[in-house]
Amino acid sequence: MKNQRLHKLIQAASHLFFPPVCPCCGRSIGKQEIFCPKCLGHIHRVHPGEVCPRCSKSICTCIRLNPCFSLVYPASFYDGSIPTAIHNMKFRRHPGHARLLGKLLTDTLRAYQVGPADFDLLAAVPMSRRKLRARGYNQAALLAAAVARQTGIPFAPKALTKTRETRAQHQLSAMLRRTNLKGSFQADPSVNGKRVLLVDDVLTTGTTANEAAEILLSAGAKRVDVLVLATTRSQIL
Ligand SMILES: [Zn+2]
Ligand SMILES: [Zn+2]
Repeated sequence: MKNQRLHKLIQAASHLFFPPVCPCCGRSIGKQEIFCPKCLGHIHRVHPGEVCPRCSKSICTCIRLNPCFSLVYPASFYDGSIPTAIHNMKFRRHPGHARLLGKLLTDTLRAYQVGPADFDLLAAVPMSRRKLRARGYNQAALLAAAVARQTGIPFAPKALTKTRETRAQHQLSAMLRRTNLKGSFQADPSVNGKRVLLVDDVLTTGTTANEAAEILLSAGAKRVDVLVLATTRSQIL
């Protein structure tokens, strides 16, 4: 409680010096907003029931993916303003945008009527040490930390780690994506018996989330659901 009050105080002070800006275009926005009105008009939220609840695709790909995770909660489709916002957070050194985009994730949980009682911990899709050194932060971990602050679900930064370097998934075909990540994640034994909400920025084929979920479940996690900012509309198969 005390920590939460302190956090709010720090946040209010930081808003005085660094007024929030739209993570997509950089215009100033109000304290309660996530995007400026123009960019907000180009966010295509995914509504519960609009896509397959398991794989988050309009045309279900569960047979092909065979997901280990139970459900995906996607905030939006990967088009309109979202790709730019994610790109700015990841590659243009705007880690602060994760706080705003974390609000989008928290709103999504609310829309799906799930909350702190449904999960024991938040985990983030991990990055290799080399990539982490190069970027300076893992955007999935920043998003998870923002959701933790906003919902009270504890974030376990060490729940998942990446043990070896792999090629970037987006450069690979669907088949290579499946083998590329095999055995590259490790789960902490503390996930045993826990209901885990796994956070990432984008879900494309679902291969990364699936590999992470498999490792968490084999370490004893009771259930893994996935929370993402965006799911792609067209599926690369
Ligand atoms: Zn904007
Ligand atoms: Zn499906």
